[in-house]
This record gives sequence, structure tokens and C-alpha cells, in this order.
Amino acid sequence: MSLLENRDDVKELVENLNFKEKVKRSLTLIEEAYEKYGDGLVVANSLGKDSVCVWDLAKRVNPKIRGFIVTTRFKPKETVQFMHQAVVQYPEIKVYKNDAEIPEKLYETDPDKCCDILKVEPTRRAIEDMKVTCWVTGLRCTEGRTRTDFKEVEERDKGLAKLNPILIWKEREVWQYLALYGVKVNPLYTEGYRSLGCWPCTHITTDENERAGRWIGTSKCGGECGIHTRPLKTNVAGDGI
Ligand code: SF4
Repeated sequence: MSLLENRDDVKELVENLNFKEKVKRSLTLIEEAYEKYGDGLVVANSLGKDSVCVWDLAKRVNPKIRGFIVTTRFKPKETVQFMHQAVVQYPEIKVYKNDAEIPEKLYETDPDKCCDILKVEPTRRAIEDMKVTCWVTGLRCTEGRTRTDFKEVEERDKGLAKLNPILIWKEREVWQYLALYGVKVNPLYTEGYRSLGCWPCTHITTDENERAGRWIGTSKCGGECGIHTRPLKTNVAGDGI
């Protein structure tokens, strides 16, 4: 039976599989999806720990697998530098960005709109431009309050599959993988961040919740930028600024 059929209980898998079994399952998910979607399978890379883990797994399945990075004008300089290194090492990664003019401090007055313009729009563009039929993400169901209901394989947009191959991994298992396989990570983690994003919306906290440092002081606190929740097959141009 193919893992792409999504038959297993995600919560049971989180607790019952050991590290080695999880790695094997993730590789199998990517392998099966690559067999099905071929070059239409593309990895979304946010340059955080989960993304670099998925990127490394994908490269083990097939070095030809492509990727895209969505960046914004508000990414910390360390992340930008890390991105440049990744693109030099992997020319099969394309970078997308929205340089449209937006109101000053939109991230404070309307962070949903800000993310929609700076993150969701370029993601939609990447999917269209790279002819993506299956995008691969580093989403994990133990990461925070907004991430508990996802599946390993989804089709939120008709004609666009979404593969979350490390959905059942815990934070510790991601770090275990990165350490054991010598995967380079964004240097900002040495500062104490646990989840990385744009600098105005990312803070270091001691909260239990891994994403608690995201969008502190707004209704989005610990939440989502929208790429996992908003439709990705429609044109953002109509949304306006
Ligand atoms: S994370 Fe903050 S700065 Fe970045 S796009 Fe979203 S609201 Fe804007």
C-alpha cells in the first residue's frame, strides 16, 4: 500500500515510530511522490531547520529535485546570507520575492495583509512559474496550535498536491537528523530562536510552544503566514494592497 494514500493515524505515528522509522517513512513519502509527480515535485524552502531537513531528505531521494525560496524585504541579514549560500550550492533552487510598495509598518497594522502580499503572492507565483504539481513542505503537526490538523498528503488546491514528509517529526527529531547528517543550519539558531521568519515578527521566547515567538502582540501570535492556509492556485493580483 502506498503511503500517499494517507491511511495512517498521524497522532499515533508521532508517538509510536522511532527516529529511524520516521526518517525511512519520510524518504518513502518523497520517493513515492517523486515517482508520481516527477519534475512537478518541488520543495519549498523557508531556510528554517525543518526546510533544510526536508531539502536534505529530498536530495537523498534524487539530486535533481528542484526547490524554491520565498524571501521578503524583512528577512534578517543572517537568513539572506544563508539563502545566498544555498542558491550557490544548489542552482536548482529559485528565489521569489514581492517588491511591491506597501504601507509603512504594515506588519504592525495588518500582518495578515503583509504576509499575503510578501509571502503568499510569491508562493503562488513560484507554483505557477515552476509548473509545480506537488509542493513539499517542512510542516510538522507538533509545531504549534495551528498545525495539528494537517495530513502527510493533501490537496487543498485542485490540481496541486502538497506533501508534508516530516509532519510526524518532533522538534528534537529534526535537530537529531540535522546533527547526525551534518546539515548546515541558519546561524540565527545559535541566538536562541526556535522558529524563524521576518525580523519584525520573530522573537526569542522561553515559551513551551515552538512558534510562540512569531507575531507576538498580534492576533496571529504563534500562527501562520498563510502559505499553508490560503489558496495557492488563484491570482493574488486581485487582492490589492
Ligand atoms: S512575517 Fe511579518 S514582515 Fe514578514 S510578511 Fe508576514 S507580517 Fe510581513
